[in-house]
Amino acid sequence: MNYQPILNSIYKAIKTTKDKGKVANYIPELSQVSTDNFGICLLNNTQETFKVGDALKPFSIQSISKVLALAKVFSLVDNDLWKRVDVEPSGNPFNHLSLLEHENGIPRNPLINSGALVIADILVSNLENPKEDFLQFIRTITNDNSIDYNLNVANSERLTGYRNYAAAYLLKSFGNLENDVEKVLDFYFHQCAIAMTCEQLTKAFFLFSNQGKCIQEKQILSKSQTKRINAIMLTCGFYDEAGEFAFEVGLPGKSGVGGGIVALLPNHFVISVWSPGLNSKGNSKLGMQALEKFTTETKISIF
Ligand code: GLN
Repeated sequence: MNYQPILNSIYKAIKTTKDKGKVANYIPELSQVSTDNFGICLLNNTQETFKVGDALKPFSIQSISKVLALAKVFSLVDNDLWKRVDVEPSGNPFNHLSLLEHENGIPRNPLINSGALVIADILVSNLENPKEDFLQFIRTITNDNSIDYNLNVANSERLTGYRNYAAAYLLKSFGNLENDVEKVLDFYFHQCAIAMTCEQLTKAFFLFSNQGKCIQEKQILSKSQTKRINAIMLTCGFYDEAGEFAFEVGLPGKSGVGGGIVALLPNHFVISVWSPGLNSKGNSKLGMQALEKFTTETKISIF
């Protein structure tokens, strides 16, 4: 299928939208980005690429990185990981803490911040050089060595990451963090600060639409692990807007406060969108609208 005409028409429609949402300002470095940026890239399973707008401009992937960290942990420790984090939607914002207190330090899922901190802790325990090795993992699955951390973003988040510090200390108090809080947060702030383009993100997520095999056809996850990560993206990828995303778009996916969203149709394609303005739930406002338009007009979804 030629996806170019539909991407072009979405681009045209979205570009004229006046209310583009608001950039995240709780991480000061992210507030510097213009809401005029807008790009889409689609990579199908025969590895053809379709793109429009700012699809080749790097941006902060933020929480989208949580899926890649989860994939790495799953490949390292398999189902042991579920002793420390659950797989239920939280119905709460990404940085909420009260459920963690009620549920004895077991985060609801690996895609909210507290769950991602447990995943980061497992990577810090299991990787020899956590930051270098995780970056190498992403470079390998995308076959792209130009991908890197944006250190200004990592530092900016560290300076204002009070809620993440609170979550990490709560986890520590419940005995669900093996390493030092500072060490885990340093890894987490870096993982969120990876800069990637829409095109690079479609390559990184290709394995989730390709039964666990990355673009080089190397088996990174088993089919069962891939199915499980897709299920978690569908139910938890958009925090307290996961229901809305399934309802409007109907694909597993993940958002980040940098304004990126990646979604996929297993065995068919990965699509990523970047529009930095967010809605009140912290998800890209126009990114959600673009994907809704895409699945509505093509009549493609997992349902
Ligand atoms: N780094 C961000 C944070 O921890 C990630 C949040 C997000 O993208 N939803 O607050």
